[in-house]
Amino acid sequence: MDCIFCKIVNNEIKSEKIYEDEDVIGIKDINPQAPIHILIIPKKHFEKLYQIEDTELLGKMIKVASLIAEKEGIKYSGYRLVINTNRNAGQSVDHVHIHLLGGRIMLWPPG
Ligand code: AMP
Ligand code: ZN
Repeated sequence: MDCIFCKIVNNEIKSEKIYEDEDVIGIKDINPQAPIHILIIPKKHFEKLYQIEDTELLGKMIKVASLIAEKEGIKYSGYRLVINTNRNAGQSVDHVHIHLLGGRIMLWPPG
Protein backbone atom coordinates (compact mmCIF):
# COMPACT_ATOMS: atom_id res chain seq x y z
CA MET A 1 0.00 0.00 0.00
CA ASP A 2 1.26 3.45 -0.88
CA CYS A 3 1.02 4.96 2.58
CA ILE A 4 3.87 6.97 4.06
CA PHE A 5 3.09 5.98 7.67
CA CYS A 6 2.78 2.28 6.77
CA LYS A 7 6.22 2.60 5.20
CA ILE A 8 7.54 4.22 8.38
CA VAL A 9 5.96 1.44 10.48
CA ASN A 10 7.68 -1.14 8.22
CA ASN A 11 11.01 0.73 8.30
CA GLU A 12 10.87 1.30 4.53
CA ILE A 13 11.15 5.05 5.17
CA LYS A 14 13.41 6.48 7.85
CA SER A 15 11.99 8.23 10.87
CA GLU A 16 13.08 9.24 14.35
CA LYS A 17 11.28 6.51 16.23
CA ILE A 18 11.12 7.25 19.94
CA TYR A 19 8.60 4.58 20.95
CA GLU A 20 7.47 1.19 19.70
CA ASP A 21 5.33 -1.66 20.97
CA GLU A 22 3.27 -4.35 19.23
CA ASP A 23 0.45 -1.95 18.31
CA VAL A 24 1.80 1.59 17.93
CA ILE A 25 4.89 3.65 17.21
CA GLY A 26 5.87 7.17 18.26
CA ILE A 27 7.96 9.28 15.88
CA LYS A 28 9.19 12.85 15.75
CA ASP A 29 7.16 14.98 13.33
CA ILE A 30 9.28 15.99 10.33
CA ASN A 31 7.83 19.52 10.42
CA PRO A 32 7.44 20.27 14.13
CA GLN A 33 4.89 22.87 15.20
CA ALA A 34 6.14 22.98 18.80
CA PRO A 35 9.39 22.16 20.62
CA ILE A 36 7.93 18.72 21.28
CA HIS A 37 5.90 17.32 18.37
CA ILE A 38 5.48 13.55 18.32
CA LEU A 39 3.12 11.45 16.23
CA ILE A 40 1.53 8.36 17.76
CA ILE A 41 0.70 6.01 14.89
CA PRO A 42 -1.12 2.65 15.03
CA LYS A 43 0.76 -0.06 13.16
CA LYS A 44 -2.46 -1.14 11.49
CA HIS A 45 -3.61 1.10 8.65
CA PHE A 46 -6.79 3.12 9.19
CA GLU A 47 -7.40 6.17 7.04
CA LYS A 48 -9.82 7.93 9.35
CA LEU A 49 -10.44 8.08 13.08
CA TYR A 50 -14.09 7.05 12.61
CA GLN A 51 -13.02 3.83 10.92
CA ILE A 52 -11.39 2.50 14.10
CA GLU A 53 -13.86 0.33 15.98
CA ASP A 54 -11.21 -1.05 18.32
CA THR A 55 -11.69 1.05 21.45
CA GLU A 56 -8.85 -0.78 23.18
CA LEU A 57 -6.48 0.43 20.48
CA LEU A 58 -7.88 3.98 20.69
CA GLY A 59 -7.37 3.96 24.45
CA LYS A 60 -3.88 2.61 24.09
CA MET A 61 -2.92 5.36 21.64
CA ILE A 62 -3.96 8.00 24.18
CA LYS A 63 -2.20 6.17 27.00
CA VAL A 64 1.00 5.93 24.96
CA ALA A 65 0.75 9.65 24.13
CA SER A 66 0.59 10.47 27.83
CA LEU A 67 3.51 8.16 28.61
CA ILE A 68 5.58 9.87 25.92
CA ALA A 69 4.56 13.28 27.32
CA GLU A 70 5.97 12.14 30.66
CA LYS A 71 9.18 10.86 29.05
CA GLU A 72 9.60 14.14 27.16
CA GLY A 73 9.22 16.13 30.40
CA ILE A 74 6.00 17.96 29.50
CA LYS A 75 3.59 16.03 31.71
CA TYR A 76 3.16 18.88 34.18
CA SER A 77 3.98 21.91 32.03
CA GLY A 78 1.22 20.81 29.66
CA TYR A 79 0.62 19.17 26.34
CA ARG A 80 -2.05 18.86 23.69
CA LEU A 81 -3.28 15.86 21.71
CA VAL A 82 -4.75 16.48 18.27
CA ILE A 83 -6.31 14.15 15.72
CA ASN A 84 -7.12 15.91 12.46
CA THR A 85 -9.89 14.24 10.48
CA ASN A 86 -10.71 15.13 6.87
CA ARG A 87 -10.37 18.37 4.97
CA ASN A 88 -11.72 21.00 7.36
CA ALA A 89 -9.37 19.81 10.08
CA GLY A 90 -6.40 19.70 7.71
CA GLN A 91 -5.71 15.96 7.67
CA SER A 92 -2.82 15.56 5.23
CA VAL A 93 -1.78 11.95 5.85
CA ASP A 94 -4.55 9.35 5.49
CA HIS A 95 -3.27 7.02 8.20
CA VAL A 96 -4.69 7.89 11.63
CA HIS A 97 -2.25 9.52 14.03
CA ILE A 98 -2.32 11.53 17.24
CA HIS A 99 -0.22 14.69 17.38
CA LEU A 100 1.40 15.21 20.79
CA LEU A 101 2.39 18.86 21.09
CA GLY A 102 4.13 20.59 23.96
CA GLY A 103 7.08 22.62 25.17
CA ARG A 104 5.37 25.94 24.59
CA ILE A 105 2.11 27.67 25.48
CA MET A 106 -0.69 26.48 23.21
CA LEU A 107 -3.27 28.96 21.99
CA TRP A 108 -7.00 28.47 22.40
CA PRO A 109 -9.12 28.44 20.31
CA PRO A 110 -6.67 26.49 18.15
CA GLY A 111 -7.59 28.25 14.89
P1 AMP B 1 -2.02 15.71 9.55
O1 AMP B 1 -1.88 16.97 8.72
O2 AMP B 1 -2.81 15.87 10.80
O3 AMP B 1 -2.48 14.57 8.69
O4 AMP B 1 -0.56 15.37 10.07
C1 AMP B 1 0.41 14.80 9.27
C2 AMP B 1 1.73 15.08 9.92
O5 AMP B 1 2.69 14.17 9.44
C3 AMP B 1 2.29 16.49 9.65
O6 AMP B 1 2.50 17.16 10.88
C4 AMP B 1 3.59 16.21 8.91
O7 AMP B 1 4.61 17.13 9.26
C5 AMP B 1 3.93 14.80 9.35
N1 AMP B 1 4.75 14.02 8.46
C6 AMP B 1 4.57 13.85 7.12
N2 AMP B 1 5.52 13.05 6.62
C7 AMP B 1 6.32 12.70 7.66
C8 AMP B 1 7.48 11.88 7.78
N3 AMP B 1 8.02 11.26 6.73
N4 AMP B 1 8.04 11.74 9.01
C9 AMP B 1 7.50 12.37 10.08
N5 AMP B 1 6.40 13.13 10.02
C10 AMP B 1 5.82 13.32 8.83
ZN1 ZN C 1 -0.93 3.39 6.37
